[in-house]
Amino acid sequence: MKRYDTHLHLGNYTRCCEIVEKSEYKEKYKLYSAINLNLIENQKAYIDSLDDFFAIPIIFKEIDIDTENEFISNFCKAIHKGIPVTIIGNQVNSNTEYYIWKEHFLLHDYNDWEERKPIYQFINDIGGFLIIHCKDKIRLEYLKLLSEKFPKINFIVAHLGRNANEDEEFILTVLKTFRNSRFYFDVSTITNFKNIIIASKIISTDRLLYGSDYPYVSLKDIEDIRNQILGFLPNAEDILENNFKVLRRQIVKR
Ligand SMILES: [Zn+2]
Repeated sequence: MKRYDTHLHLGNYTRCCEIVEKSEYKEKYKLYSAINLNLIENQKAYIDSLDDFFAIPIIFKEIDIDTENEFISNFCKAIHKGIPVTIIGNQVNSNTEYYIWKEHFLLHDYNDWEERKPIYQFINDIGGFLIIHCKDKIRLEYLKLLSEKFPKINFIVAHLGRNANEDEEFILTVLKTFRNSRFYFDVSTITNFKNIIIASKIISTDRLLYGSDYPYVSLKDIEDIRNQILGFLPNAEDILENNFKVLRRQIVKR
């Protein structure tokens, strides 16, 4: 079976070390302590183990969005593999080769969404994809709003939309709210396998995606969850392989 990953982050090792070390936000945001710098240093080895992947820039409050987007794009070009995911910046970049974006609320606030309206409109007009994490009730409402205002955007909800505690009940609410065909869900950072089983029952199996959230998880956890999917889900091949292939055809510029 091919190995795909729909949610991993790549970054410049030196830049990331410097930010983590010096950041004034390192106590405030879990993202800074959760990242494994050693895995960034060895990201090429992980990438080599994959057949293909969606590559998202590593996000900190200090990053320059354009620099990180360019880094990912060049990285993928150099290894002839990977689909770069563009972090939403402040202006529309219509020169993009791939129709996939990432919204991150460490960089933007959802209350400012109207400022980014032209970008969402652009993604909507081309039927593009937006990766977003819906981790609490406020964001759940925000995501509903975005999906209503922009009816042609396809969403990939990261981490099954889990909250900080990965509550079954919250995940269930998210899955039930966005049960329509424009919503895909990735299983990155899900540690309780029961939640993946729940998702496979509620969401059509052609819309569940395997993702790791490398380098925020250990290689062992990445392997464990993959093996559980393989061992316990009848539709493992869809989640690990087929759905990625279908999505790739839609995301690469037509
Ligand atoms: Zn992530």
